[in-house]
Amino acid sequence: MILELDEAQKILKKNARDFMEREIIPIADEYDRKYHPLPKDVALGLLKKLVPLGYVGSTLPPEYGGQGLDLISYAVLGEELARAYLSLGMIVLIQDSGVLPIIVAHGTPEQKAKYIPKIMSLEKISCFCLTEPDVGSGARDLKTSAALDGDHYILNGTKTWITNGGIADLAVVFASTDRSKGARGISCLLVDKAESPFTTRELPKLGCRSCPTSELNFEDCRVPRSNLIGTEGSAYLLALGELAKLRVAVGVGALGLAQASIDAAVKYAQERKQFGRPIGSFQLIQEMIADMAIMTDAARFLCYRALYLIDKGQIPFKEASMAKAYSTEMAVMVTSKAIQVHGAYGISEEYPVERYFRDARTLTFPDGATQIQKLVIGREMLGISAFV
Ligand SMILES: Cc1cc2nc3c(=O)[nH]c(=O)nc-3n(C[C@H](O)[C@H](O)[C@H](O)COP(=O)(O)OP(=O)(O)OC[C@H]3O[C@@H](n4cnc5c(N)ncnc54)[C@H](O)[C@@H]3O)c2cc1C
Repeated sequence: MILELDEAQKILKKNARDFMEREIIPIADEYDRKYHPLPKDVALGLLKKLVPLGYVGSTLPPEYGGQGLDLISYAVLGEELARAYLSLGMIVLIQDSGVLPIIVAHGTPEQKAKYIPKIMSLEKISCFCLTEPDVGSGARDLKTSAALDGDHYILNGTKTWITNGGIADLAVVFASTDRSKGARGISCLLVDKAESPFTTRELPKLGCRSCPTSELNFEDCRVPRSNLIGTEGSAYLLALGELAKLRVAVGVGALGLAQASIDAAVKYAQERKQFGRPIGSFQLIQEMIADMAIMTDAARFLCYRALYLIDKGQIPFKEASMAKAYSTEMAVMVTSKAIQVHGAYGISEEYPVERYFRDARTLTFPDGATQIQKLVIGREMLGISAFV
């Protein structure tokens, strides 16, 4: 395992950093205050600027229009975007890593031909719908149902906390096609809003305020049978396979916030003077900055290790959960320390660290709360599942 970026990855990082400094960081605080969430046209305008840098579909093989980028490069790109503006990073995360990989891995040739180019070109914004109002961590108990009626499924139910839900044209929806079979009765449908309309409602929240997070309502929503992904009842295992990469990707988002916090805290500690000296000369301030750096690097290596294993073709449940649990909890601590270094100005909207802190607080839930990650790690280590 190589513990430094190769030349191509270093160039990728520098180009992404330069772009973010020029185009995204200057607008991030303003947009975060103004848009709850970003309107679709504004989001699309930003996404279009990111596509040439490799932010959507670049890890896919060339036959699907991707560049076959490795996952460390993917993490480099993700960290730089999250360092700039996590709300935008979350929109990109779902567009790039939520629905596309499912269609690529499990879609029919017709589904691939119809939807992959449209997701890559942003003609269709996508979302990943697992969570429901009464079903969060225990995803195998889904209440949303899909009943076959001739050539269509009739979809009924509510999904909640769906990233991109309010701006989505295409939803991958997990629903029960046979409740008697529990997890093995869950199926996955591609719901194209143009042909199978559904309604949405925004959910205002503490952090990642400008990323759409929505409730989706499906009422007798007719979905063509040909939009079933995989086979009936195969979706729970399919989702578990995809979750490993998504979990690490959320960890990478946390890394970006932590790095942004370190950079802000170092600058502030060098410039702010008390007792006639820069506060960075005080040992207790240096301790906070050192702790922030240690935790962030530890998280980065956990994320890189999990992605390295995924690149090798494994589904590293334990390593992905370690990366996700540690990175997101780490980001809550590191962003909080950045506020402490800034004193009262840390909680002011005049400085970005309050945004980093609020955004970090949202990341301990998506793709499995910290407690769930720990139960996965425990299961992998003990061979005993606490999920009964
Ligand atoms: C910003 C954001 C974006 C999201 N995006 C999406 C999305 O795009 N698509 C989607 O489908 N979902 C999305 N989610 C939902 C997310 O996946 C859920 O929040 C998560 O699965 C937890 O479910 P819950 O919030 O209902 O909490 P619950 O499952 O109700 O859990 C509540 C608490 O109990 C704990 N708990 C639950 N079960 C156990 C157990 N067995 N042992 C110990 N503790 C337990 C949890 O860790 C948590 O602390 C998003 C959430 C957020 C915050």
